[in-house]
Amino acid sequence: MPPKERRIALMGFRSVGKSSLTIQFVENHFVDLYDPTIENTFEKTIKLRGQEYVLQLVDTAGQDEYSILPQSYFMSIDGYVLVYSVNSHKSFDVVKVVYEKLLDMKGIIKGVPVVLVGNKCDLTMDREVPVEEGKKLASSWNVPFQEASAKENQSVTDIFHQIVMAIEKAEGGTPEK
Ligand code: GDP
Ligand code: MG
Repeated sequence: MPPKERRIALMGFRSVGKSSLTIQFVENHFVDLYDPTIENTFEKTIKLRGQEYVLQLVDTAGQDEYSILPQSYFMSIDGYVLVYSVNSHKSFDVVKVVYEKLLDMKGIIKGVPVVLVGNKCDLTMDREVPVEEGKKLASSWNVPFQEASAKENQSVTDIFHQIVMAIEKAEGGTPEK
């Protein structure tokens, strides 16, 4: 089977760890300081259930509730990783708004492949969003949910596997379990 190319955007409020998750996944290290204004596309090839995927990861500069999402976030994006950080209720609110905007633009006909991610789960003392709230939101959207830590490389690979599987599902593929 030829490799499949998939384009995935990481979105969410600033400082939630979009770049850190991306770089941890692609380069296997944690960056403590990464220019928050940069929007970069990273590439990584993975093999999942016998299929090769060339992943283009669009690490967006971040959104807030007032952001007008550019057309480029809708065109040719196959799936979205929507990130909040568990130590910021504000970022949890923003991720809801971003999701609504995506739905408005894409429509719900085909279903928008999304994975909801609560990053920075290593910050146990500063937690503002209980894990149950994340789960509840994801299940109301009917999408997978994952808490993760880019810093401790916890569940980072899972996130990207889950979004690839969600894209397969939306395309009507039948990935074997
Ligand atoms: P972005 O604006 O969403 O791309 O966020 P960054 O990836 O630039 O991260 C913002 C800040 O949060 C940086 O100081 C990171 O080092 C820190 N950070 C990112 N991920 C984690 C994490 O999982 N745990 C902790 N404790 N800090 C993190
Ligand atoms: Mg960033």
